[in-house]
Amino acid sequence: MHTAAMTIPGSDSPVPVPRSPVSRPDGRDDLIGMDKAEMVAALAAAGIVNPKLRAKQVWHWVYHRGATDFGSMTDIAKAARNVLADHFVVGRPEVTTLQVSSDGTRKWLLRTSDGNEYEMVFIPDADRGTLCVSSQVGCTLNCRFCHTGTMKLVRNLTAGEIVGQVMLARDALGEWPQPGEDLVGEARMLSNIVMMGMGEPLYNFDNVKKGLGIVMDETGLALSRRRITLSTSGVVPMMARAGEEIGVNLAVSLHAVTKDIRDEIVPLNRKYGIDELLTACAAYPGANNARRITFEYVMLKDKNDSDDDARELVRLIRKYKLPAKVNLIPFNPWPGVAYECSSAERIESFSDIIFKAGISAPVRTPRGRDIMAACGQLKSESVKLSRADLDRIAAEKQAALG
Ligand code: SAH
Ligand code: SF4
Repeated sequence: MHTAAMTIPGSDSPVPVPRSPVSRPDGRDDLIGMDKAEMVAALAAAGIVNPKLRAKQVWHWVYHRGATDFGSMTDIAKAARNVLADHFVVGRPEVTTLQVSSDGTRKWLLRTSDGNEYEMVFIPDADRGTLCVSSQVGCTLNCRFCHTGTMKLVRNLTAGEIVGQVMLARDALGEWPQPGEDLVGEARMLSNIVMMGMGEPLYNFDNVKKGLGIVMDETGLALSRRRITLSTSGVVPMMARAGEEIGVNLAVSLHAVTKDIRDEIVPLNRKYGIDELLTACAAYPGANNARRITFEYVMLKDKNDSDDDARELVRLIRKYKLPAKVNLIPFNPWPGVAYECSSAERIESFSDIIFKAGISAPVRTPRGRDIMAACGQLKSESVKLSRADLDRIAAEKQAALG
């Protein structure tokens, strides 16, 4: 595999990031993760005649129809198909385990070709189905209530590994369009994507941008940017670019309204404070009353859940004139965590104050808790760590934030 050293913003340690496309041990390149220009160049380099036209056809088969076998690409001459098969594969992430919750939520543990594990979750609802996609193996940040935060960052996922999650979900749901069929929007089981799996997507900007670009391409997977939401813990310097260059809906993990509490539970706050974060939200390209920014707020007992906190949240949203909705997330516990979830009455009272101020504040129903698939419960055993290791990693991550 090709690797290149690169520094992840927010961390001082160089992390090996495989280049996309990823070569197989047999030397063939994976087409998944290539954008259109890369596919044309790759086909030309393989000696395919008329690579532009061929790439258009291959793109359609691979990204629109979900084909994994060159033999099925019937509008491509047999000789060209053989050349393609000699040089390329159409891969999928390797599935280590699949768990199904009593509420229908499915969680896949996936393995990269270099042996790293990450998770993906599908949450079916009556009127939609949401795929929760990971952007990194682990996370450089260390939000105190998040299980992923206790993992060392292993590496960024490549664009192919990001798109691959969506393609694998389509396979599992049997949702590739048949010829002439135009499955769009709510007609699909997989109707929405949230970048809310493992990792901080804005610390893997290039691969997330490229991966989502492929997911949104109208001649390929064709998911509308309006059905995709990227969640960030508040990487302020990347937010404007995310709006301009990716253009999906934004969710911000706010979780606290005072400096002290947010510094404690979302340590990135020490670098980019609440005022800076909300200023960047106010400037987020494309946010308006029809496309609101979602503020995620995890309900932690006696930590961030008082009526005063709710009132302060309303004040901040008004102060910055934010087109906002609030998503209250009952805290999902995991082994060894120090926090508890607020009571149902407390959450209701908090939500009421925000609703009465004219701001939508629904409470997110926990899904997949029985298989540790709910928000903040994702963690792979890519690196097995002792308690002492966990404390050291937390200290290192905080030191890296400066
Ligand atoms: N790194 C990004 C996206 C992944 S987390 C971010 O932090 O925004 C997706 C959401 O789940 C975030 O709002 C995160 O704060 C929240 N979350 C993390 N741990 C949680 C837990 N234990 N219970 C409930 N929500 C949690
Ligand atoms: Fe990373 Fe998000 Fe978890 Fe924070 S909440 S540790 S940013 S994955």
